[in-house]
Amino acid sequence: MQSINEIENLIKLISKLPGLGPKSAKRIVLKLINNRDELIKPMAKVLAEIYKNISRCKICGTLKPSSVECDFNNCKILEKKYDRICVVENISDQWSIESSNIYKGYFHILGGTISSVGQRKEDLLINSLVERVNRDEIEEVILATSATVEGQTTAYYIQDSLKNSNVKITKLAQGLPVGGEIESLDDGTLFSAFKNRSKINPSSK
Ligand SMILES: [Zn+2]
Repeated sequence: MQSINEIENLIKLISKLPGLGPKSAKRIVLKLINNRDELIKPMAKVLAEIYKNISRCKICGTLKPSSVECDFNNCKILEKKYDRICVVENISDQWSIESSNIYKGYFHILGGTISSVGQRKEDLLINSLVERVNRDEIEEVILATSATVEGQTTAYYIQDSLKNSNVKITKLAQGLPVGGEIESLDDGTLFSAFKNRSKINPSSK
């Protein structure tokens, strides 16, 4: 293949996306190039808009329009609706839990796990979780991190960070497949994991 810098750069970028290697990245790039007006043009526009207008809330981690405050379901609480927070690693986990309709409450999206490659503890929204729990008088924190070593290490670290907050901390029931990531679970498994969640800090309420 004749090397063209722009194309090479795009292939490199696309191979960084989940589930794609260099081979599929090349196929995608060819598809794009062959559909300049139908794909490249609108995609470039939408990507620029997303980059400019959408960002993660720096407190709770959910996606929101950059120009407005996070909505009252999470951060800007106009009227307190819930007394529990479900802590997940990524936005895709929040989406899975929301679409399964098993949980009503606030969300807190950490933005990864402690030992993810290149992920520093300070980059995860753990301090802001502790602040929210105290400020909003939360009764229960549900740790819904993955059943991976990283997910469980993160859960333990959060439990420790909350040790001075008077809050009940629960963890999704075992029975999550080992290595199971929340986003890949079916609704039935999620349902029983939520329903049978167990309290993990016996000393507090
Ligand atoms: Zn927020």
